[in-house]
Parts: sequence; structure tokens; C-alpha cells
Amino acid sequence: MSNDIVLIKTKDDLEISELEPGEVHRIYVQLTDNSLGVPWKVPLVVVKGVEEGPIFGITAALHGNELNGISTIFKLIEEIDPKKLKGSLILVPISNIPGYLMKSRYFSDSVDLNRIMPGKPDGITSNLYAHYFTSKIVKKFDYLLDLHTASHGRVNSLYIRADLDNEVTRTLAYLQNPQIIVKKFDVEGTLRGWANENGIPSITIEIGNPSAFQHSLIDETLEGILNTMRHYGMIEGEVKDMVTDAIICDNSYWIYSKKGGIVDVHPSLADKVQKGQRIAIVYDVFGQIREEILANKNGVVIGKNINPNCDAGTRVLHLGVNLIEPKPESIPGHDDFALGD
Ligand SMILES: [Zn+2]
Repeated sequence: MSNDIVLIKTKDDLEISELEPGEVHRIYVQLTDNSLGVPWKVPLVVVKGVEEGPIFGITAALHGNELNGISTIFKLIEEIDPKKLKGSLILVPISNIPGYLMKSRYFSDSVDLNRIMPGKPDGITSNLYAHYFTSKIVKKFDYLLDLHTASHGRVNSLYIRADLDNEVTRTLAYLQNPQIIVKKFDVEGTLRGWANENGIPSITIEIGNPSAFQHSLIDETLEGILNTMRHYGMIEGEVKDMVTDAIICDNSYWIYSKKGGIVDVHPSLADKVQKGQRIAIVYDVFGQIREEILANKNGVVIGKNINPNCDAGTRVLHLGVNLIEPKPESIPGHDDFALGD
């Protein structure tokens, strides 16, 4: 294995087919110039297998403060022997370089990259970066797992956003090892939405909290990725039914405060709550109750606010609702179905 880092210039193309098989390749891909007049360089790790197979792309830190995906990718690199791999992995540990440097969700011009995909070749700063990111990197993928976390001031369970009506993305979702799966149609401007529209099946994996490494969630995410690679024949091993412990929801939404003050949100992540159950209290500055916030449906807690500063209209709790019982035949690695005659 070579530790050399290869540089791909903005004008040049990354040719996966020209890389040596059975090796791990570390590559900097230059995108657009920053205000020093030097290009932003995105790090890629390409694990190139010895046999033909799918090209699996994994992106992390597209929001620059969402870091659990970085450790997931590093652990995956340690786990995979390129000499025993079919197909290739293209891993992007840090997708939003300026956001990562600023410890921020956003790009250097305060734009959310995951709302403007695929960018524009003649757009504003963030649009240009997004254009090169999608055209020079993500277009090479056959499948995409986009790794995120909760936003600042909030905490998440380990959960998947995916279009469950689409067979391929549903399969991708069921192959992971999440606490919760939520059916989400692709929002325009997201990397997932653009990839799915362009023939690259994609799901979003939300791994816990921002600005941290949470190793239990990272290890569960890694287990799901390895299960996915087994399903697509990239590595040896038996595919497991990963939805036995997962809660699958048809929809989810945030519940907001109506009053301002100091908010305390009660349920824990992945707790089930009942319609009418008190989920949060907004206090005034003297410790008196101003608002009791109730669940308006039965559901499961996907994410919650942990920042007590509460303006009226603050997102308090992300509730997953309308639980789905999946069909056994739609679950990869489900024994009952596999053993049928
Ligand atoms: Zn994110």
C-alpha cells in the first residue's frame, strides 16, 4: 500500500478505471479557488477492489459540523481489505471543507450546500463548489450513502431518511442498522434528491449529534454499511435482517413551541410517546410554567432540542408517526422469507 497522496486538478478528471486494483488510494480533488487564490481540496479515499463490482460512494460532513460520518469512514477503511473487495468504495470524509474549518453547518458564504445541489457552473461561491463536487466526485458513484447528524443545539437518534416507495432505496434503508427509518420524499436541492434523480440510488443516514464522535452509533452505522456491501456482493458474508429492532415511520415532523422562555424537553431519543403526553415545558424566567407542549399523535422521538433558550416557534421535538410494518419479502436477510419453499 502506498501512502502517497495524488492530486487531481480542477481541469482534470478522476478516472477510477485507471487506478491500480487491490489498493487503497488517497486523493485530493481540487474544486474551486478560495480567497487566497488556492483551490479547496476535497480528500477522497478510493478503496479499489480486485474484481468488477459496484462503485459505492459515502459522503460525510456535507454540513461541516456533522462529524460522526468521518469516524465511520475511517473505521470502514480499516475494515476493508481491497484484495478481497469486489467493486470500489469512494469515501469522502469531509465534503464541505470551509464549513469544517469554521466548525459550521454552512459553506463560507453562509449557504447550506444540501439545499443547492447540484450547484451551477456559473453561480455564486457555494453553487460553484457544489457544481464541481457533484460533477467531479458524486457522478462517479453507483450508490450513495450521505452521512449526517442533528443540527447545533439538537440531538438525534440513529435514523435513516429514504424514499421507501422506491425498491432500491428501500432496500438500502433496510440494510442499515438504524433505530428508526423515516419515509421521506427527496427534497429538491439535497444531495440525496439530486443523486436519486440522476440514477444514483441514495439515502441519508443521520448519526446522532453534531460536533462529536459517538462510537456506539458509529459502530452501528458501520455494521449497516458492511451489511449493505454483503448484499451487493462486494464482500463475503451473510446478509442480516437489520430491521428487526428498527421502528419504521410513514412520516415525521417537528413540534414547535408557541411561547418563548426556557424550554425543557422530557422524552429520551427513540422513546415512544402517546397522543396527549406532555413532551416539554416552557418556563418563564421566574420558573413558572408558561406552556405545556403535548404530543399531538402517538409516535417515536427521532430528535429533540437540548438548548434551553427558546424563542416562540422553536423546534422542540422531532416526532416519527404512522408506524409501518414492512413486508417480510421486502427485508433483505429476513430468514422467514429466505427459508420458505
Ligand atoms: Zn446534515
